[in-house]
Amino acid sequence: MDKSLLYQSMYDIVRKTSTELPDDAKMALKNACLKENKDSIASEIFDTILTSVNLSKADSLPVCQDSGTVFALVKAHDSDEYDEIRTSIIHAVQALTSEGILRQNCVDPVTETTTGDNTGEHVPRFHFVPADGPAQVGIMLKGGGSENVSAQYSLPDKALQAGRDFDGVRKCILDAVFQAQGKGCSPGILGVCIGGDRASGYAIAKEQLFRKLDDIHNNETIAMLETKILEQANSMGIGPMGLGGATTLLGIKIGTAGRHPACYFVTISYSCWATRRYFIELDDRGAISKWL
Ligand code: SF4
Repeated sequence: MDKSLLYQSMYDIVRKTSTELPDDAKMALKNACLKENKDSIASEIFDTILTSVNLSKADSLPVCQDSGTVFALVKAHDSDEYDEIRTSIIHAVQALTSEGILRQNCVDPVTETTTGDNTGEHVPRFHFVPADGPAQVGIMLKGGGSENVSAQYSLPDKALQAGRDFDGVRKCILDAVFQAQGKGCSPGILGVCIGGDRASGYAIAKEQLFRKLDDIHNNETIAMLETKILEQANSMGIGPMGLGGATTLLGIKIGTAGRHPACYFVTISYSCWATRRYFIELDDRGAISKWL
């Protein structure tokens, strides 16, 4: 690939992810606003969020002051192609941090100082998936407030009276929504993993957040579970910023992973209304050929 073209592509996707809320999230916020009484606090919050989102796009400024942690999902042919893309993403992140489009969000846990450029041990976080066809890159910026309220449950859970079945899964997810109220900047979008282990659960749950909000799961049972939990979460009345209202979640996307017979994890990656993620396809030279 052409190094400067590839760098420009990575710069463009990271910048857009920080400054432009994806259309599906924006549309969901608009629809949520329409459900509220015009003179309610919820309506005022949605109006403020949407005004802010429009200003960010118009001025190419961050959607939120917390520009989040950078997560990159790279689907590439081989490790050489992956390395090229990875290096370009790191350079783009460093440049955008120095331009103030990304906040300095990487703290070295030993020295307790920021590394200054959003890079460090395991930061940005990359997930490489070997794949045929044109390379694809997904970028997600996930805020710390919403990451703090992500949760993992191990079923059975006595306190929740949740067994090792989909009703138990439902109880865990609704408990996570309840625990997150007033934190994590609702309305949220949940990525969930049923199964897996403690590590893969979080990774798979987070990757579900790349799915568009109108995406319907190809497994009918999971699709029905997503719909049911979304309806029940929105009947809780938590609302935007936890101040009451008809919309507590904008969406919920559930993935599954094989589990050890002795383990049954339900992992919830909570994302705030500022769910920032884009996916692109690259041509042979490294230019963006498609926004997916
Ligand atoms: S949780 Fe989301 S909206 Fe709230 S401060 Fe963090 S990034 Fe911003």
